[in-house]
Amino acid sequence: MTNGKAEARTTLYPGYDVLDKRTTPSWDDATRAVIAERLATPHEPRFFLAVEWLAVTSLCACVVPQANAHPVVPLAALLDARMFSNQGDGYRDARMPPMRDAWRIGLAALDADSCEKYELPFASIDHEEQIALLEQMQRGELKGSAWGDMPSKLFFSERVLHDVCGLYYSHLHAWSEIGFGGPANPLGYVPSISTGVTRGKPQKPNPANTTRPSRRIAVLDDAQTQPRGKDGRAPDVFREGAWIPMREYPDHEEVDFAIVSTSAGGGTLACRLSEQGFKVVAFDAGAWWYPLEEFASDEAHQQKLFWTDERICDGENPLKLGHNNSGKAVGGSTVHFAMVSLRFRRMVQFAQPARIRRRLAARLARNVVLLRTG
Ligand SMILES: Cc1cc2nc3c(=O)[nH]c(=O)nc-3n(C[C@H](O)[C@H](O)[C@H](O)COP(=O)(O)OP(=O)(O)OC[C@H]3O[C@@H](n4cnc5c(N)ncnc54)[C@H](O)[C@@H]3O)c2cc1C
Repeated sequence: MTNGKAEARTTLYPGYDVLDKRTTPSWDDATRAVIAERLATPHEPRFFLAVEWLAVTSLCACVVPQANAHPVVPLAALLDARMFSNQGDGYRDARMPPMRDAWRIGLAALDADSCEKYELPFASIDHEEQIALLEQMQRGELKGSAWGDMPSKLFFSERVLHDVCGLYYSHLHAWSEIGFGGPANPLGYVPSISTGVTRGKPQKPNPANTTRPSRRIAVLDDAQTQPRGKDGRAPDVFREGAWIPMREYPDHEEVDFAIVSTSAGGGTLACRLSEQGFKVVAFDAGAWWYPLEEFASDEAHQQKLFWTDERICDGENPLKLGHNNSGKAVGGSTVHFAMVSLRFRRMVQFAQPARIRRRLAARLARNVVLLRTG
């Protein structure tokens, strides 16, 4: 937010447009489709009511001023699209209502406070007055009855800043503004003759990237609504559009184990038990993706791998669940984990010189004594 008049967006990278990479091998088809969809976000509201739309448009303009910026990130439209799809965060602070309710209550309360103080709704007051009201909201000083149980301070931090800023930086115009290299296909950025942009770990251009076989399936497929592992076959995650055979048991047949989860724990267990000849079925609430076709190099889109259903978190400093700690897919979190594979060191006495071994042994002995006497 800025005080006074709305400021123009400035950039350290004039002339840079991440969209120039759209046709280069740095973007794969899945990423192109996702970005095209984001650029085509409807500008007419589908969730917000007319009066809310006025308030939210003004609110977005205060949080991220784009008065003279070109092109403009359609923040209110992006927020409306998020509310329309109702994609959650994976957690909810117990002091806050559900996401959509929070926005409806917050906008109505902001208008009510604005009318009480300035006799006009938020969208109709001066920019300085809008900023003053938002600063009061940020400090939790807006306490009119329209807020109900929702603390205005939390609405500001958990919804206004979280949603508006997150959406701003999910958009290509913001990427161009900050000089972000944008999406890179799974191989990383590919040196491009047309833009000269080479970031990250350079990879040799791969002709396969531009001449993918036509059997690719659409990126926004129906995996989340239609189970794919059925009829005795499962998606082959290593070959585009291919299937592998899968053992299936009819509903009436008794099995030895039913495992809820197909991740590091559940999947491994199912595999080991099957290898021992047990009858095993595994359930997962998440989709069975074709990563090669359906994963885009785009953080916002890949939220589809996270458990974003609402989980209530309480306490002074509630733990935020969702994107960084839980997956929802066949494969669970292993589908998007970072592949860091920690191993225990070999025993100290084999790896360290005698001097260090003696010191470690002494420290160990001291700790044991402390434990015994403590
Ligand atoms: C972003 C990220 C990066 C990570 N990076 C690394 C790393 O580099 N190295 C490392 O070692 N670890 C990493 N981890 C951690 C590691 O991935 C997880 O610890 C591990 O995968 C957890 O496995 P899990 O079997 O406990 O269950 P989870 O991966 O949590 O999977 C649980 C599965 O159960 C399903 N499920 C849950 N409830 C139900 C239900 N009621 N009905 C049906 N299905 C249900 C879910 O859909 C999910 O698929 C990372 C995790 C994340 C999120």
